[in-house]
Amino acid sequence: MELLESVGTVVWAPEKKLMAKVQGATVIAAEYNHITEDIMDAGKDTLRGIVAYGVGYNHIDVAAATERGLYVANCKGSNAEAVAELAVTLMLNVSRGTLAGDRLIRDGKWRSDQSGNLPSILRGRQLARKTLGLVGMGEIGRRVARIAKGFEMRILVYDPYLSPETLTQYGAEVAELRHVMREADYVSLHVPLSADTKGLIGEAQIALMKPTAYLVNTARGAVVDEKALLNALRRKKIAGAGLDVFSLEPLPARSQFLKLNNVVLTPHIGGLTQEALEEVSRMSAEESVRIARGEVPVNLVNRKELAARGLPV
Ligand code: NAD
Repeated sequence: MELLESVGTVVWAPEKKLMAKVQGATVIAAEYNHITEDIMDAGKDTLRGIVAYGVGYNHIDVAAATERGLYVANCKGSNAEAVAELAVTLMLNVSRGTLAGDRLIRDGKWRSDQSGNLPSILRGRQLARKTLGLVGMGEIGRRVARIAKGFEMRILVYDPYLSPETLTQYGAEVAELRHVMREADYVSLHVPLSADTKGLIGEAQIALMKPTAYLVNTARGAVVDEKALLNALRRKKIAGAGLDVFSLEPLPARSQFLKLNNVVLTPHIGGLTQEALEEVSRMSAEESVRIARGEVPVNLVNRKELAARGLPV
């Protein structure tokens, strides 16, 4: 806050009031609020850039910002450890039935179902020496890979933009998406949501998974075809899923995911650790200050596009 106030006035605005408040603003920092072209135009006389308060920036219309010569920056890497640890937590929880076990104890049943038998959900599976399939291996994916090495997992990666050096450094093998889906015991998603990745994990990809495999999504809900995933989970075509993100958030009370016991659900908490929150705060303030001072932000997501328009980046 002090850093921000050293360059100007800080105004808080809920989404409904954003349009009015943005007039006269130099920078908008937005966590989830949709930053549309209308909002950008409302601030057109003064606005220089938009900072995603976090890593994902699919709530910002980057193409519209680029057209208007506006910087779009994010807090790359700020919460990568937190999200990576949650992805591994979900892998462990969904394969060991920890949450189901917790519910049984609280219901006074220890480890028996209605008929007094051990519920199959408590008969877990181990991560050790299994195959982990990573879809996207940027800041978060590569930290998941590092943790997975501790479990002696084999790591297959689908990320067409990765350099061979990165793969070697993390002891990972490059693979086509089909191969990752078919071979992995755990598929963990770490791609940004974009036109290319929307529905990337669809019915055809899920159908390739083993019946003993788990899908973990800490990226964005819309990367997965949720209907296809629900079908696969209901019919036990895959063993389970760990989901932190959903195409509609908060997850509606009528969601069919709530009816399944082979799914572990968390309310988009990937980046919610003390450490990550402090880092996001610091980085977003620093990027906002750079923009306010007329400097180029460090984590500029539309650098190439602005450069192509001849703008100084
Ligand atoms: P990053 O930009 O460092 O890495 C993304 C990786 O995805 C890159 O290596 C890129 O090459 C790869 N990629 C892009 N398009 C691809 C495609 N079509 N197919 C395969 N790979 C592709 O980002 P990151 O910090 O690792 O974060 C990844 C995503 O995680 C974010 O965009 C955000 O949506 C999500 N996220 C979620 C939470 C949460 O709270 N659950 C928190 C932070 C980030």
